[in-house]
Amino acid sequence: MEPKDKTNKREKALVVFSGGQDSTTCLYWALNNFSEVHTITFGYGQNHSAEVECARKIAMREGVPFHYMDVSFIGTLSSNALTDKTITMDSESPEEGFPNTFVPGRNLFFISIAAVYAREHGIGNIITGVSQTDFSGYPDCRDSFIKSLNVTINLAMDEELDIITPLMWKDKAETWKMADELGVMEIIRNETLTCYNGIIGDGCGECPSCKLRKRGLELYLEEKNRI
Ligand code: ZN
Repeated sequence: MEPKDKTNKREKALVVFSGGQDSTTCLYWALNNFSEVHTITFGYGQNHSAEVECARKIAMREGVPFHYMDVSFIGTLSSNALTDKTITMDSESPEEGFPNTFVPGRNLFFISIAAVYAREHGIGNIITGVSQTDFSGYPDCRDSFIKSLNVTINLAMDEELDIITPLMWKDKAETWKMADELGVMEIIRNETLTCYNGIIGDGCGECPSCKLRKRGLELYLEEKNRI
């Protein structure tokens, strides 16, 4: 008997999709590299649900399955400025320790849940936009963590899933370059939300996330104009 779904597991990818610059760039990269792409978006109690709407809109337009998961318990586990409106956000990374925008365990939960989803849908690849280069001091964006989690996930479910991190060694300027090469520069610039204050596109320009995004864009455009 013919299997119902003829697409090979290795040709399918699930993108952990927040609607921000990095994961949206990863979505378009995935659409260029896999024959079937799904997205999974998490509501972790973040103060701004606008990013979920950005993600939904982009996924709908590209015709990729969009799966929303409410994991708001994650935000209640720790004290951090992304899920608690009463905490004022650090404008710079502190000399020691983490910025208070760090949500402990976030990528651990997200990727573990994504792995179960992938397994249940016969998907062999999980794509996440984490970067060790511009990791804002978050330990769960580092390559060693992702590699370790990949081993753990496969041991947990006796699977052969691959966690792919296209941006791991790219800084923000290189991520903009990638978006440009994929032909989606304008979509990333105007329709994604990276700003911690919930403003789409170029954002508030003041929060650490906007500063990082803006600096990267300026660097990339300078470099491009020189050529
Ligand atoms: Zn901002």
